[in-house]
Amino acid sequence: MDKHTEHLHDGWHMEHAVAEQVLEDLAFYRTLIVNVCMIGKANSKDWVLVDTGISHYGERILEAAEKRFGKRTPPKAIILTHGHFDHVGSAIYLSKQWDIPLFVHPGEWDYVIGKRDYPVGDSTVGGGLFSLISPFYPTEGVNLARYVERLPEDGSLPFLSEWKYIHTPGHTPGHISLFREKDRTLIAGDAFITVKQESSFAVFTQHQKVHGPPAYFTPNWEEAEKSVKKLADLNPSLALTGHGLPMEGAILQKQLRELADNFREMAIPKHKRKPH
Ligand SMILES: [Zn+2]
Ligand SMILES: [Zn+2]
Repeated sequence: MDKHTEHLHDGWHMEHAVAEQVLEDLAFYRTLIVNVCMIGKANSKDWVLVDTGISHYGERILEAAEKRFGKRTPPKAIILTHGHFDHVGSAIYLSKQWDIPLFVHPGEWDYVIGKRDYPVGDSTVGGGLFSLISPFYPTEGVNLARYVERLPEDGSLPFLSEWKYIHTPGHTPGHISLFREKDRTLIAGDAFITVKQESSFAVFTQHQKVHGPPAYFTPNWEEAEKSVKKLADLNPSLALTGHGLPMEGAILQKQLRELADNFREMAIPKHKRKPH
């Protein structure tokens, strides 16, 4: 662990784990540099957790959840946007503690039951974001077989009647984003993020900017581009992403549209771009 990361850890451990509210029924909690989302009003018994952050953050997520929803108020379920280690790190711990199911898209299935591994991170594209959490890199693939269930194919989400999921592959084959039509709220996972991932500095300062999916771990750029276009077409009023701070309103819509229209230049690493 380098000095920078160590320092960050110390600071983090002294603080209490508190989720930050974005809407009356939406909050997020940051595990080092990876967000988990809590859908549900404070003190409600009816809530759902989206993603589980990096490993060793299970207790802190529990603490943040207890503060928001009360003691012994587990979520109805955990929904995973995808199975990357920085989003499933505390999944087993939390499923055990709460005794609740985890849901993933069928396309992600093999990767979370230990059947297939994601491609190794592409070190030729740089990864400021990921160098920060490198101490948390797993040494083996995750196996959630005992806890995980497949999401229905029709886009509906268990326990979230107002929400639907949108299949947004590219970053991973079974990546999903969650969308609520009523107020056009989007939880985008890593389909796009709101921090410049190549820059450690931007990650620390959490400077907000709509950015393509983390390049280090994105193997299929054509699919990733289609997915960003799909999300831009939803014209979300608010977006919470896997990395970075929430963004909303005109600035979100403008930057997301820009990314969708210029995806090649803005998101795909130069040497990975295919000729038109
Ligand atoms: Zn990811
Ligand atoms: Zn991620």
